[in-house]
Amino acid sequence: PPLHRQRHQFVIDFVQRNKPKKVADLGCGECTLLKKLRFHREIELLVGVDVNGSKLQKKKNGLAPLSADYLQPSFNQLHIELYQGSVTQKDSRLRGFDLVTSIELIEHLTLADLECFSEVVFGYMTPLAVIISTPNSEFNPLFPGVEGFRHSDHKFEWTRAEFRSWALKVCLEFGYEVEFAGVGQAPSDQQERVGFCSQIGVFHRVRRENDCNMFCDDTEDVFSYTLLHIIK
Ligand code: SAM
Repeated sequence: PPLHRQRHQFVIDFVQRNKPKKVADLGCGECTLLKKLRFHREIELLVGVDVNGSKLQKKKNGLAPLSADYLQPSFNQLHIELYQGSVTQKDSRLRGFDLVTSIELIEHLTLADLECFSEVVFGYMTPLAVIISTPNSEFNPLFPGVEGFRHSDHKFEWTRAEFRSWALKVCLEFGYEVEFAGVGQAPSDQQERVGFCSQIGVFHRVRRENDCNMFCDDTEDVFSYTLLHIIK
């Protein structure tokens, strides 16, 4: 299957194993992942956030319930919200989630914005689990004709070591543990040398709920995202 589907399947497999009730997809783009996640009965709240509001507006229709969904009572539990907003900004409606995903988003942020992203996601939203995927630059030589970055809007593409060091720093700062994975296999004789095409970090919160973090005084509601769409 194409790489973008493998990345989404990775999230779906995680959802099937861990059964999160509240899931947010940051940089959800055209809502492709949300459209797949809405079939998972355990999920009660599904939120998409993207800075590009027109992308969301165009694609949101595919999220409406199918007529057959009405025949299956458990679908009534699912509530979907789409927000236009930047992951560099806090919004209190995004706190308390079981799972936050960010698929091929961070490489579109400047390093200064990435710093804000880490604080917002791991320090403020503090979900139980976070899945982050980003290109593995060590794989790039296997793409014929690709010089430089894979996409002109990428601000960086990291080696496995660079991703690892960023992830471990985030864990130390905000009280998470991380496991590394990936999708998109190289030919078997090169797999170890270049790694996966997309590298993935799966983070789990380890800090106890009542431990203080840098935002612990921050109990005021903040609404910096614009709610574009609600589906009940
Ligand atoms: N996650 C989707 C997927 O897996 O197909 C889309 C990935 S697309 C390469 C990156 C997305 O991140 C775009 O939809 C873009 O608008 C969004 N994005 C970029 N910067 C953002 C920011 N600061 N806040 C929220 N979304 C952002």
